[in-house]
Amino acid sequence: MKLSVDRVAEAPTEHHFEADADWWREWTGAGEDYSYAVAEWPRFEVRACAQGEDLALEGSLDAAIDVECSRCLKRYRQGVRGSFGVTLEPIRDRRPPDPESIEMLERFGLCLGDELDSGWYRGKEILIDPLLAEATAVAMPFQPVCRDECMGLCPQCGVDRNRASCDCKDQRPESPFAALAVLQKDAEESS
Ligand SMILES: [Zn+2]
Ligand SMILES: [Zn+2]
Repeated sequence: MKLSVDRVAEAPTEHHFEADADWWREWTGAGEDYSYAVAEWPRFEVRACAQGEDLALEGSLDAAIDVECSRCLKRYRQGVRGSFGVTLEPIRDRRPPDPESIEMLERFGLCLGDELDSGWYRGKEILIDPLLAEATAVAMPFQPVCRDECMGLCPQCGVDRNRASCDCKDQRPESPFAALAVLQKDAEESS
C-alpha cells in the first residue's frame, strides 16, 4: 500500500486496504509455528496525518484464520484483530541503525523501530506494507485456543475433556505458588 507523503496533511485522511493471497504470501511469515488457513484476508484501515514533518499513522486490521486449538486440537475460526500507531520522522542525513533498516529505507522508503511505534521515512512515496505485515504478525494468536474455558485433551487417554470425562488421575503438579504461600504463612506465624 502506497502512501504519497505530499498528500498527507494535518487533517487526517483515511485509507483502506484489503490484502489478498499474494500479499499474504509476500509479506507475512505470521504464525509460522502452527498451521492455519486464512479464512478472511486482512482489511486495514489507516489514518494518516502530518505533524510538522513527521507522519503519524494509526490503523487497525481485521482478519480471520482457521486454526487448530492448541488444547483440544479442534479446528475453529479465530478472528485476528489488531491496531497500531507509529510516528515516522524524516531521516535526512542520519544513518539507519543497522543494515536491515538501510535496506528497508531503500526498498520501501521507511524503516521501523523495534517497538513498532516509531520509525523513519525518506522520499515522497512510502510503501507501508512492512508496517501492515508487522501489525499482522503481532495480532496472530501465539497459542490458539478455541475458547478460554477449553479443557483440552486428557494427557493420558486423549479423551476430549470438553465432551467427556475419564477416570484418569489428574497428575497435574501442584503450583509452585502453593509452596510459596505455605512458606509465607509460616513466616507470618513465627514473627
Ligand atoms: Zn479447544
Ligand atoms: Zn483420561
